[in-house]
Amino acid sequence: MTPFTYRSGALHVEEVPIARIAAEVGTPVYCYSAAALRRQWRLFADAFADMPVTICYSLKANSNLSVIKIFAELGAGVDVVSEGELRRALKVGVPPSRIVFSGVGKTRAEMRHALEAGILQFNVESEPELEALNAEAAALGVLAPVALRINPGIDAKTHAKIATGKAEAKFGIPWERAEAVYAQASALAHIRPVGLDIHIGSQLTDLSPFAAAFQRIVELARKLRTAGYEVPRLDLGGGLGISYRDEVPPELMAYAEIVRRSTSDLGCEIVLEPGRALVGNAGILVSEVLYVKTGATKTFVIVDAAMNDLIRPSFYEAYHGVMPVAAADGAAPPTRVDFVGPVCETGDVLASDRLTPPLAAGDLVAFLSAGAYGAVMASTYNTRPLVPEVLVDGARFAVIRRRPSYDELLAIESLPDWLGGPGG
Ligand SMILES: *Cc1c(COP(=O)(O)O)cnc(C)c1O
Repeated sequence: MTPFTYRSGALHVEEVPIARIAAEVGTPVYCYSAAALRRQWRLFADAFADMPVTICYSLKANSNLSVIKIFAELGAGVDVVSEGELRRALKVGVPPSRIVFSGVGKTRAEMRHALEAGILQFNVESEPELEALNAEAAALGVLAPVALRINPGIDAKTHAKIATGKAEAKFGIPWERAEAVYAQASALAHIRPVGLDIHIGSQLTDLSPFAAAFQRIVELARKLRTAGYEVPRLDLGGGLGISYRDEVPPELMAYAEIVRRSTSDLGCEIVLEPGRALVGNAGILVSEVLYVKTGATKTFVIVDAAMNDLIRPSFYEAYHGVMPVAAADGAAPPTRVDFVGPVCETGDVLASDRLTPPLAAGDLVAFLSAGAYGAVMASTYNTRPLVPEVLVDGARFAVIRRRPSYDELLAIESLPDWLGGPGG
């Protein structure tokens, strides 16, 4: 089921015509469907309803405050990877008892902020990080709850830039050292070890790497229990893929069944950190056609969105479907085109080699499956203002991140006095 459908020839998000949003907010603009976000959350939560699972939405996929708030209202926890994300979660009322803090390079300031908030768990990725966290917890007179992130040495068979579970990746404590580091954590006065954590990669469309990784971490938990440690919790990370094109991601029920089968006899709490699977197909990027240019060998549809707004195609060779906002009338035959942006890079291609009905300047197009790792990865490269975001909920819509003005964009820069700036 998709919330992006044609009604009387006009593409809508739920009940709102996209052309209306474009007219009021301008383009490029991200549009999210609240119904799709809620539906995806419920599907995920239902799949795990009979297990002691805390679902911690991985904020980095889409950290807009309204998106977090929608999930928080449904009872979600969150997985954060920075103080900024932690502040977002706390701002919209996510209880600290449902917040886990991941990431290979937490600063001391970030640790303090999270310790003061009283979060559920730090996912710690190295011995030096463990020592630093122990010191910060000691200074505050508190205990830091820690799950050790283990690198299981498993190839998630996904794009190289988003495979995190291989032995050579920067992530996690090497499998071979896991028991020793758990013992070290237990010996530190201000660390309370609460279990183990893995996250092997993103956009996984096959269950077998999950099964292999879960098996490894469960085996490790058993060993630790035999050695006398409690190991009350396992955090199994995120990574479940979505369909961008013709991928067939695992059914949620099948994924849940692997979790159940792998962990049932341990009787421990489970944390999951889905990101993309909750938001990816709930968002689109809407853009206006500026020019249609006939090149020497190709036709280019030059749109007003660019790689700075949606970097996935140029960064990960990712595929995003494209739909014209006004339905094709079927009279003219489709043509083969590349959708490109205005940024001065040859890599600024949003979609290549697509069959599309004839398009002309002023037409609107929607890049699909842009709800995850879209707006959050946007930049102001080429001094293009940060792309705005809109939330649609039934017949309502609201701007949930506005487009900054050029004055705002330039306001954070200043000239030193020796170049004619103020002061000196
Ligand atoms: C990015 C990330 C996730 C979420 O990954 P998805 O593929 O979006 O589900 C979960 N956990 C950690 C530690 C991450 O870095």
